[in-house]
Amino acid sequence: MMKGIAASKGYAIGKAFIKKDIEIKINKLKISDVESEIKKLNDSLNKTRDQLENLRKITEIEVGKEESLVFESHQMILDDPEFIDKAKEIIRSNSVNSDYAIDEVRNELVSIMLSIDDEYMRERAADIKDVGDRIIRNLLGINNDVNISEPNTIVVANDLTPSDTAQLDKSKVCAFLTNIGGRTSHSVIMARSMEIPAIVGMVDITETVKDGDVLLVDGVNGNVILNPSDIEIDEFKSKIKLYEEEKEKLKELKDVKIYDSNKRHIEICGNIGSVEDVEQVIENGADGVGLFRTEFLYMHRSSMPTEEEQFNSYKAVLEKMGDKPVVIRTLDIGGDKKLEYLNVGEEMNPFLGYRAVRLCLDRVDIFKIQLRALLRASIYGNLKIMFPMISCIEEFRQCKKILEECKCELIDEKYDVSDSIEVGIMVEIPSTAVSAREFAKEVDFFSIGTNDLIQYTLACDRMNEKVSYLYNPMNPSVLSLIKMTIDGAHAEGKWVGMCGEMAGDEEAIPKLLEYGLDEFSMSAISILSAKKQILDILNKK
Ligand code: PEP
Ligand code: MG
Repeated sequence: MMKGIAASKGYAIGKAFIKKDIEIKINKLKISDVESEIKKLNDSLNKTRDQLENLRKITEIEVGKEESLVFESHQMILDDPEFIDKAKEIIRSNSVNSDYAIDEVRNELVSIMLSIDDEYMRERAADIKDVGDRIIRNLLGINNDVNISEPNTIVVANDLTPSDTAQLDKSKVCAFLTNIGGRTSHSVIMARSMEIPAIVGMVDITETVKDGDVLLVDGVNGNVILNPSDIEIDEFKSKIKLYEEEKEKLKELKDVKIYDSNKRHIEICGNIGSVEDVEQVIENGADGVGLFRTEFLYMHRSSMPTEEEQFNSYKAVLEKMGDKPVVIRTLDIGGDKKLEYLNVGEEMNPFLGYRAVRLCLDRVDIFKIQLRALLRASIYGNLKIMFPMISCIEEFRQCKKILEECKCELIDEKYDVSDSIEVGIMVEIPSTAVSAREFAKEVDFFSIGTNDLIQYTLACDRMNEKVSYLYNPMNPSVLSLIKMTIDGAHAEGKWVGMCGEMAGDEEAIPKLLEYGLDEFSMSAISILSAKKQILDILNKK
């Protein structure tokens, strides 16, 4: 049995298709007709643009709007003067072939980006490499798209780019396995939305497996069995049957509301990053939206979203959710989430630096646009506003003051604003958890952001696989801080949610229930299984 990182849940039995990375040979050639070489490059750029537009459309229909945005940013690379104009300059000044020029500039940009130790830069470098490959393949007439004709195919590759993943035909491809990659790479996020089981970080799976080998893929536990025996296949089929039956049965819980023995409603909500994500949250029977990560509205574009654009997004989410609660978090940019058009400079420790509410309180101009949009949208549903990365009470007071200012301005401008908006904070910094009782006197609610709380409590980077063994939600110190937060809030009659990954973690759910967590918010696909687990625990009592 081979093991990797279980990245997208599900089981599959199929035959391996090894995706070979065609090695492209680029020679430096002397060109006599420079202008026709430039024309050749322009044609290839147009072809690339068309292909990317096609991929964007397919992805938007088959996967989702948010996932399709990556191809929009790929299209933007085609207009990047640092890349394309520079390549044209090289063709003109050195009279060389266009594939050579593109390769030169692309490699230079990629190596500059990789020299900066930053997750965002690594992703950008991967995007530029991907787009560069596509332009060069079009110049050389090489087709490297994943074309699969047989059903039940398991794609085995060193890595899959977002374009590769978007092209996977769901009726043929039943799983994919890659040598490299992490749980949060673009391809994996797409696989989850497409419900294709995936295991990444399998090191040398492309070497171990041959074309046509039979594979059993267990995307729940991250296991692969190569050329299984009949007994292993039978056992695996029973596992799949059970999994499918359970999944089907879970749908019965869609409209079930959960109450504990004291008749307290325990809410199970969904996390979203865009208006489109609301459908899945509703389909899975969520009691509300526990976290709307609004920073995604600011990404993959060249300027800030206007008040009107933001207002329309917030209004759409609130209307779709009807009278159910919708917690919208204000801009949480910084750390690993950067905006191309907002230069905040280099930082030694971006996760401890100029991010989220710290940035917003410094750039009140940006902050106010979002707050105005939120307040204007508040009359269309059950809005709750939440501030991220609050570390001391003064920050919350300042946020609240600016929110009040915006409200007065809007009322003066004759806008309607709801007067029952709850205002809360994320608890993701240990100082806030420790002083929860004090904060609870002033806020309406807490939502515990364990993704960050764990990294700050254990001084353990949430993105670094080398220290991931320390990143443990069940560490007693983390649990203590969670308990302190819940106790502090309840002592002041306030409610507490959790919107970090831990809220949907099977191992953690019993403890969170025991502590009296009021609201669990998670990715849509985890909602029904969390409901079942919580109901089972409560019914056993
Ligand atoms: C968290 O930190 O737990 C959280 C939900 O915020 P994000 O993952 O966006 O940092
Ligand atoms: Mg966070």
